[in-house]
Amino acid sequence: MNRLPIILFAFFHLSLFTVPSLAAGAEHKMQVSDFGKTSAGIPVSRYVLTNKQGVEAVVITYGATLVSLKVPDRAGKSADVVLGYDTVEGYEQGKSYFGGTIGRYGNRIARGEFTLGGTAFHLPKNDGPSSLHGGTVGFNKRIWTGVDRSRADAEVLELSYTSADGEEGYPGTLKVKVTYTLPAETNELRIDYTATTDKDTVINLTNHSYFNLSGDTSKEIVEHQLLLRALQYTPVDATLIPTGELRAVRGTPFDFTKPTAIRARINQDDEQLKFGNGYDHNWVLERTPKAGLQLAAEVFDPTSGRVLEVLTTEPGIQFYSGNFLDGTAKGKGGQLYAHRTGLCLETQHFPDSPNHPSFPTTVLKPGETYRTSTVLRFSTRK
Ligand code: BGC
Repeated sequence: MNRLPIILFAFFHLSLFTVPSLAAGAEHKMQVSDFGKTSAGIPVSRYVLTNKQGVEAVVITYGATLVSLKVPDRAGKSADVVLGYDTVEGYEQGKSYFGGTIGRYGNRIARGEFTLGGTAFHLPKNDGPSSLHGGTVGFNKRIWTGVDRSRADAEVLELSYTSADGEEGYPGTLKVKVTYTLPAETNELRIDYTATTDKDTVINLTNHSYFNLSGDTSKEIVEHQLLLRALQYTPVDATLIPTGELRAVRGTPFDFTKPTAIRARINQDDEQLKFGNGYDHNWVLERTPKAGLQLAAEVFDPTSGRVLEVLTTEPGIQFYSGNFLDGTAKGKGGQLYAHRTGLCLETQHFPDSPNHPSFPTTVLKPGETYRTSTVLRFSTRK
C-alpha cells in the first residue's frame, strides 16, 4: 500500500494550520505554574522565561523574585548562577533577600527617618539603628501580579504591585511595575522599573540577586574577577551609612577599574573593609549624562568562562561580597549557602540619599514617572 499521499496530505494540512501562527509568534506563551502558597494561604505563581540559546529565567510573584537563572558556560553547558530557595516558606523566612525586588527604598536609611516637605517620616529599624531594604515587610515579601507580555522577539513578564500610603512608614500610594525581558536571540535579562505616586515620596528599586557564575554554590565567589566602572565610592561609618564623602578608589582595595580577583584585597587591613566585613559599599558609576544604559560592572569566572556584564541607567552600584552568608540559609536543592558563596551587584541610587542633599535625588512627586533599567548580559570567554 502506498502511504505517500496520506503523509503528504497530513504534512500540508499541519503546515497550513501551524506555520502562519508560529511565524506571527502568537502561539507562544511562557510557562506558568504554581510555586506554592504563603503561610497565609495566598497562591504564588512561577513563570519560566526561555530563549533559543539555553538561557532560562524563573520568576515568582512572591517578591517579584528571580528564583533561578540558567546560562551556558564556555562549553555550552547551562547551569543556575543565582542563589535562592525551593519553597515560598524559604522566601518568607529568608533574611538574605535572594533575588528579590527591593523597595520602596533599597539599601539603608540612617536612624530609620527622613524629612520630606517639612514632615518627618519614621521607618522600621530592621538593621541595627537603620532601616534596610524597605523595612520589615519590603517589596521582596509582597505578592505581585504577573502578566505575560511576550512579543515575537522576547519573553516578557510584567509584575505589578501597589504599595499603600504609609506602608512601612513611607508616604504616598506607589504603583510599581517591574518587567523582566528575555530576548529570543541574545543572552541578557533586562529588568525595567516604573513607578508613580500620589504624594511626594522617596524611591530606590533594585534586584537583590546573588550570583555565583561557577554554577556551583558550594564554591566561594572570591576567584571571580570584577571590574567596576567607577572612580569613586561612598565610604561608610560602622553601621554602613555613607558619611557623605565621595572618595577616590585609586590606591585603595576599592579600585576595580581593571578586572581584579575579589580575593586579591578583600582581607586587607582597611577600616572600610572591616566595617563591611568585606565589600558592602556603593560605587559612584562613571556615566555620560543622559546616556541611558551604560556598563557598570563586569564579572568573570575563570573556571566556567562565564561573563556577566551589568548595564544600568542608575548612578550607583552596591557590590556586596556575601559577607553575611553563614551556612545557615538552606537554599535550592538543600544547599547551605556559606560565607561568600554569592555576590550582589545592586544597581541603585546611593544609600541614605534622603538624608544627603548632595547625593542624586530619590524624591518622586505626583505627575512624574520613576523609570530605571538594568541589563544582566551573559557571555563566555576562554
Ligand atoms: C546590604 C548588606 C546586607 C544584605 C542583605 C545588601 O544589600 O548591603 O549589608 O547584609 O543586603 O542580604
